[in-house]
Amino acid sequence: MKSPSRNIVWFRRDLRIGDHPALCAAMESADEIVPVFILNTKQIANAGEKLLAYMGQSLRALDKSLGNRLHVVDGDAVEVLQELIALYDAKEVHISAEYERFGAQRDARVEAAGIKLVRTGSPYAVAPGRVLKPSDATPYKVYTPFYKGWCAHGWRAPAKTPKEIKAPQPSEKYRAFPDFPTPAGTTIAEAGEAAALKRFKEFTNKGLDSYDENRNFAAIDGTSKMSTYLKFGEIHPRTLLQGLGESKAHDTFRKEIAWREFYADVLFNNPNTDTEYYAPRFADMRYDKPGAQFIAWCEGKTGYPFVDAAMRQLVVEGWMHNRTRMVVASFLVKDLHLEWQLGERFFAKHLVDYDVASNAHGWQWTAGTGTDASPYYRVFNPIEQGRRFDENGDYIRKYIPELAHLSAAEIHEPWLFLDGYSHGYPERIVDHAVERIESLERLKEIKAEKPEQPPRRSS
Ligand SMILES: Cc1cc2nc3c(=O)[nH]c(=O)nc-3n(C[C@H](O)[C@H](O)[C@H](O)COP(=O)(O)OP(=O)(O)OC[C@H]3O[C@@H](n4cnc5c(N)ncnc54)[C@H](O)[C@@H]3O)c2cc1C
Repeated sequence: MKSPSRNIVWFRRDLRIGDHPALCAAMESADEIVPVFILNTKQIANAGEKLLAYMGQSLRALDKSLGNRLHVVDGDAVEVLQELIALYDAKEVHISAEYERFGAQRDARVEAAGIKLVRTGSPYAVAPGRVLKPSDATPYKVYTPFYKGWCAHGWRAPAKTPKEIKAPQPSEKYRAFPDFPTPAGTTIAEAGEAAALKRFKEFTNKGLDSYDENRNFAAIDGTSKMSTYLKFGEIHPRTLLQGLGESKAHDTFRKEIAWREFYADVLFNNPNTDTEYYAPRFADMRYDKPGAQFIAWCEGKTGYPFVDAAMRQLVVEGWMHNRTRMVVASFLVKDLHLEWQLGERFFAKHLVDYDVASNAHGWQWTAGTGTDASPYYRVFNPIEQGRRFDENGDYIRKYIPELAHLSAAEIHEPWLFLDGYSHGYPERIVDHAVERIESLERLKEIKAEKPEQPPRRSS
């Protein structure tokens, strides 16, 4: 009997079977597919514990969707692929295209070793690099016109979910599922495509229509929580975009998805901005060296309740509300006068949804050193932000037991009340009003020295 023709599907940031163009393309041109996930030691060495624990669970979920046929191999991508191509006499290796530096370089190395990769689709509705200014075909540097260009470009409808996936049974050697434990004292969301679809359905039914009103309130479950699923590709952004209408709430949600795409595009066009200042003049600013105050920020012990609640949420859940991501980032840069990269690295270590582009540019946006119209002199007031976006103090109470005894009127400024510190909550490490002025002074220094420069362009 003739043996079946086979294509490899190399899964990376696309741990799903629904709306997966590369999987569909591989299935169309072969009798069977060989689904593979390759563990990369370098990636593991740098990744956070919670993220790894989540990834381990996501791989199990993908394996289940594939009828327990997922080949999980620990090793070098080139060697593993060469071995599997020979073993299965595979014709092609199919992938979703990667655009960020690490993934793109890895794929280039695989191709340089003589393995042809067939790219179909990407982790984005519109692949980075595609949306260009009609006037001169250069990339956008500002979000709002990018958004318009992105909408005008449009995206395909979601790909069909395969009914049956034929794949060979892997031997024990190719079932090297990692056993990353969930760190003690932490809770991470349920992983996998089914969990992503379930959560999105729940959000669509209960949260989407009020998204524009509720998305900023830290204590409310008012956002989609899709970031982790998108990060691992357990759901594709097209799936999120397909049912959206024109209401204000739906439009706001579409715009948030577009921020993810914008930052991926910006990083693609300016590859060094994951670590370097997008606006280079800010590299010359006077910053402090990290010390005890940085440690207090990391541990959620700055003495500012809204900041500390958020930092504790990050460490325990591996996720933080967008509003508080901005507040803690502003606090690190403008109140503690530390460079944004320090906070970016701490987030990378703890976020389960850690995404190189959204994280670096979320930091740079808040620091005022990035692409858009959030100027450096915009300094978030951690007390006012708490009052506005956690009015009753429920978010603070949830993560800071030392403040749970305080009322809504007291909880944002425990230093004003007799029993504010009675349960061991730390005193403020800095005075926000003073540091705000200091931060603006430092801005003046670089403004005086250098005029505004255009953003650094990649080669
Ligand atoms: C300092 C800082 C660091 C950040 N780091 C990350 C990160 O590592 N990974 C990450 O996915 N997001 C990051 N963000 C963006 C944003 O905070 C999260 O995407 C959002 O909080 C995730 O929750 P959600 O899925 O419920 O969002 P929703 O409000 O439901 O938004 C839907 C989706 O839109 C996208 N999105 C929303 N807001 C943003 C934004 N500001 N920038 C980019 N994409 C956005 C996300 O994919 C999100 O899942 C960061 C923001 C800041 C200010």
